[in-house]
Amino acid sequence: MDVLESGMLAQGKYVSLLEASFKHTTGARHAIAVSSGTAALHVALLASGIGPGDEVITTPFTFIATVNSILMAGATPVLVDIEESTWNIDASLVEAAVTPRTKAILPVHLFGHPADLALLRDIAARHGLVVIEDAAQALGASIGKAAIGGSGTACFSLYATKNILAGEGGMVTTDDDAIAERCAMLRNHGMKERYKHEMLGYNYRMPDIAAAIAHAQMQRLEQVQSARAANAEYFRRKIDSCETPATKDGCTHAWHQYTLRFPLDGDIRRDDAAKRLGEAGIGTGIFYPTPAHRQRHLAGAFGGICLPVAERACDEVLSIPVHPRLSTDDREAIVSAVNAL
Ligand SMILES: *Cc1c(COP(=O)(O)O)cnc(C)c1O
Repeated sequence: MDVLESGMLAQGKYVSLLEASFKHTTGARHAIAVSSGTAALHVALLASGIGPGDEVITTPFTFIATVNSILMAGATPVLVDIEESTWNIDASLVEAAVTPRTKAILPVHLFGHPADLALLRDIAARHGLVVIEDAAQALGASIGKAAIGGSGTACFSLYATKNILAGEGGMVTTDDDAIAERCAMLRNHGMKERYKHEMLGYNYRMPDIAAAIAHAQMQRLEQVQSARAANAEYFRRKIDSCETPATKDGCTHAWHQYTLRFPLDGDIRRDDAAKRLGEAGIGTGIFYPTPAHRQRHLAGAFGGICLPVAERACDEVLSIPVHPRLSTDDREAIVSAVNAL
């Protein structure tokens, strides 16, 4: 209402407040609000100097925006298989994928579980690469005491299904002054001073209403996250019919998704599980049914490659509700339906 009554609907006061709350929450030096998580990835890549001829190493098991943002920057995605336990990029395979054209590593903190940043940053430092994190699902996650987004450059999404949502929206956090300045220009047609354009940019501004919606939720991020964590802990203790998600030592999971695994060689098929849970009134989701290299627009580039862990994950994963509005009854109903599979 404050935004509507002000009559100023474009990027304004609440965008600044939302940026301040991201800085406060993550510990980042800079936060730049943009119109989507995809826009955040796009400007972060461009601001890091990534363009045509450059290779960016990323994961095939992600929402397609991760890979598309690399294509949007004119660069070439290089896909590396994932690890079994967290479904994140397998950091131990990354170094073998580095070539003289590699410029960046773009890990995804999938479902809210941090990727192995220590090893990825080490590889990046040794080869002169930048690390840009797709933290779209990982607001509230941390490694040890270090919040995701607190150092380096990370991209968040405020899309309608994310833990904190604006409908559409995104945020770049960075500790690099030059990257921050370029992201701020790139979101607004390359403009630094009014109507002085320093570079080709975009209209990636966030409307103030969207920022106000997200800013209000940022004030109760801790409650939202602890409710998700409590739901996850309940499922971990009670579900005994299938594999529940692992959390690596020292990592705080953001629990954007709570994802069960139904191994292909196990007793229960994932698709049967989804169907039977649906019949029991439990909504489920498959994130993601197809790896990036099997999507039509990438099939030409990646037609021949085989990334077996990612391909199998696409057939084995099933996410159940973990959101903060689940009641005690909801949680019990979910557990008894899963355990009856
Ligand atoms: C949601 C999401 C994005 C894209 O965010 P949008 O705000 O929808 O553009 C990118 N990567 C991952 C892993 C996501 O989950």
